[in-house]
Formats: sequence, C-alpha cells, structure tokens
Amino acid sequence: MRSEKVVHLSSMASPQATSMAVCEDHGEYSATVAQVLSHTFRSPCPHCKAARIAKEKAELVERQRHELAWKLGDALVPKRFKGKTFETYQASSPGQAKALARCRLYVEQFQQNLEAGRCVILVGHPGTGKTHLGVSMAQAVMALTEYTAAYRTLGGILQAIRATFDGSSGQTEGSILDALVRPTLLVLDEVGASKEVPSDFELSRLFSIINGRYERMLPTIVISNLDVRELPAAMGERSADRLREGGVIVLPFTWESYRGKEGV
Ligand SMILES: [Zn+2]
Repeated sequence: MRSEKVVHLSSMASPQATSMAVCEDHGEYSATVAQVLSHTFRSPCPHCKAARIAKEKAELVERQRHELAWKLGDALVPKRFKGKTFETYQASSPGQAKALARCRLYVEQFQQNLEAGRCVILVGHPGTGKTHLGVSMAQAVMALTEYTAAYRTLGGILQAIRATFDGSSGQTEGSILDALVRPTLLVLDEVGASKEVPSDFELSRLFSIINGRYERMLPTIVISNLDVRELPAAMGERSADRLREGGVIVLPFTWESYRGKEGV
C-alpha cells in the first residue's frame, strides 16, 4: 500500500534528505524526501515499487504472448497439450530419464542457449515421448522466463499456408511465416513425417521459417520420427545447416514406443 507516513520529517527538510517512513505492508524504510515550496515529496516504499514494476512487467509479457498467439492464429501451445510438462513426463527407462534431464537443462540454461542460437533436434521412434518433451520445453520457457515459445506441427503450418491460396482464410502466407519467426523459441514437430520425397513447396517454407529464425538468432527445436542421418535429406540440406549453427543438441529417442501401454 502506498500510504506511507513520514515519521521524523524535519520541517526544514532540504532536497534529497532522507527520512524514515512507514509502509503499512512492509514497515519502516528510508525515504528520500524533497521539499518543493510547501509540498513534501517522498519516495515510495521500495518493496511496493518493486512489486508494482514486476506486475507491470508480467502484464506486458502477457500482452505480448497474447498478441503473438493472435498472429499465430491459435494458442502458443495448443490447449490439448497443456498437460504435457516435465512434471507429467514419465521416464521409465534410463534413456527417457536422460532425455528428460537434457531437456530440462536446455531450459535452465535458456539464456545461454538463446545467446548462442543453439537449436535442439529430437529424433527417434514414434511414441517415445518427443512431443511431450518438446511441448514441456516450450511451456517451461514461458513459466520460467519472459520469453515467448510456441509449438506447431510442420503439417499444420503447411496446411495453413495452403489455405491462404484462395484468399478466404483471412491470412497471407507472409503473415503466417512472419508469425513463426517471432517466438523466442519455436518447437516444430512432425518434420519429415511424410516419408515421401519432400516437395519443393514443403522444403522452401521450412527453410523460410528456420532461416528467418536463424537470422534473428532464435533457437528452433525440431522433432522428427526419422533417424538423424535421414533428417538432412528430409528437411533440406540448407535448413539442416542452419540448425547446426550454434552447436545443435541432438537427442536420439531410441527406446521402444510407450504409446498404447499408457494409452497416449
Ligand atoms: Zn510497501
């Protein structure tokens, strides 16, 4: 509360004098006091001030995330994935435990990873929990930092781009691609999912996204069911090169699927 009352204010207070003041919530503090004509101005309680600044900052972060979600046309992390967090990931093998630890570490060191533009590739069999950990990283970055993170499947992006071609979707290809280079972290799932030779359309859009993010030094997490050796051909050598810059972290998910066992 900002109803501090000055305790020992001298009537002759000179500019920049200090005096003890009392905040109803935080108790005594040393206030800076300035006398201008007949008015006494004193600095607010530092705890209240810090709380107010933190609240304003949180509101700003919330607004920025909201605006970005609007540009992306959906929640940053789709609603059906909200429950996928590090805490709900069940590591039932040493490989899974290691993958979980590595993904957590990436988020804990997100500031350094961001400065390096370090990307992550999660590759391996379907149903091994890659999506769960990818979504968890996006959600943890938003829980622990002021940055924005988004999860999208490549198929969903391409579908949204194709839907712009007849002009009825209200979006343009440019606005979709532009929105995807904005999140501080982008988790891009189902890369190379078609198992067929990727089309030029697919490769060029994927490169636009990955290169756009590369130019802004923003990391991308790529998730694929392919073997890591198959990935460059499936996503295009140019895109793969961009991911490698900054020292990419490759996490192979080589254990068997747990899908079905847990009804995932
Ligand atoms: Zn206070």
